[in-house]
Amino acid sequence: MAKLENLSVVAHSPGDLRLEKRPIPEPGFNEVLLKMNAVGICATDVHYWQQGKLGDAVIKKPMVLGHEGSGTVVKVGSGVQHLKTGDRVAIEPAYPLLNDDFCKSGRYNLSPKMFCCATPPYDGHLSQYYAHNANYCFKLPECVSSEEGAFIEPLSVAIHACHRGRVKLGSKILICGAGPIGLLNLLVAKAMGAAQVVVCDLSSTRLEKAKEVGADFTIVVAKETPKDLAQKVEEALGCMPDTTIECTGAEFCVHAGVYATRSGGTLLLVGHGEALVTVPLLNAAIREVDIRGMFRYCNTYPMAIAMLASKKVDVKPLITHRFSLDQAIEAFETTRKRLGIKVMLKCD
Ligand code: NAD
Ligand code: ZN
Repeated sequence: MAKLENLSVVAHSPGDLRLEKRPIPEPGFNEVLLKMNAVGICATDVHYWQQGKLGDAVIKKPMVLGHEGSGTVVKVGSGVQHLKTGDRVAIEPAYPLLNDDFCKSGRYNLSPKMFCCATPPYDGHLSQYYAHNANYCFKLPECVSSEEGAFIEPLSVAIHACHRGRVKLGSKILICGAGPIGLLNLLVAKAMGAAQVVVCDLSSTRLEKAKEVGADFTIVVAKETPKDLAQKVEEALGCMPDTTIECTGAEFCVHAGVYATRSGGTLLLVGHGEALVTVPLLNAAIREVDIRGMFRYCNTYPMAIAMLASKKVDVKPLITHRFSLDQAIEAFETTRKRLGIKVMLKCD
């Protein structure tokens, strides 16, 4: 029996999060064993801890959380060619299990059979050691820190969102939500050449961070109707936005997003809310506002590493809290209370 020396953060049942020791895994033929460096906590991790499920994905056996991580290669499977001991890598946590038509056409995020860290039944990597498919481990250059490496996962969501949202040079953008995902969309939209970005949220503290990292305008949402919010956005920008990137999941924001987006523009749905929501569909239809969805990302890791290495995007101001792995419960409480923006755990 392998010695239990791999401290891990494990969700057992709703509300029951434990720090426990597990065996150190052996890397398979095409895997690398990583000594984990940094792992960010995501709202999804908190959801699994609090609810024990997310949509149809239910935790049926204790599951290690964490899907935003970076680590150092300490052991290499015999089939791995491109990585060696000592390399620091960012982990792409979700990959397809079949080489189906979606993979062949470059949209592997849409494949129906995916492995994904910290999505039942698969363990995540909020632990000291973790073995992962080497094809989905991306070597970090020296100038990209391990914390930045851990940020590549949510940064990838934003890169994919801005592509799907057709952000381009000179775009005027509305972003609903100033959580980590909304703020990363702000950074990426600006890096892609957006001329002006307005961000709205219920929280004035989060909007202060939006201002700090480059929002041209912010709007605190209080008691407006969706049409009122759309009007405020138009007043701020001097025109209606070409693209609205919805990062709250709130029905109110989807509703406001339709009214706010200029005719012929794009409303991109990033946020996950209720399964059924009411939207002013006719308004979108007769003004040719494209309502688009997106799911995670694909082929974004090399681009994200290049953006971080070239300093075109600086994610560091979004890290507001740092904890060591043995303080994980406190770290999760911090994210649950939405204190700050990104809570980062140091695993080494
Ligand atoms: P978060 O909860 O930290 O941030 C959401 C923000 O929305 C909060 O700041 C909150 O105050 C704000 N908000 C809520 N209701 C609002 C309202 N009515 N008006 C204005 N602001 C409001 O979450 P996050 O980590 O930033 O993620 C954002 C969303 O993106 C979540 O729904 C998450 O599930 C989703 N997500 C989707 C994908 C995908 O692949 N599509 C990937 C990652 C995250
Ligand atoms: Zn996440």
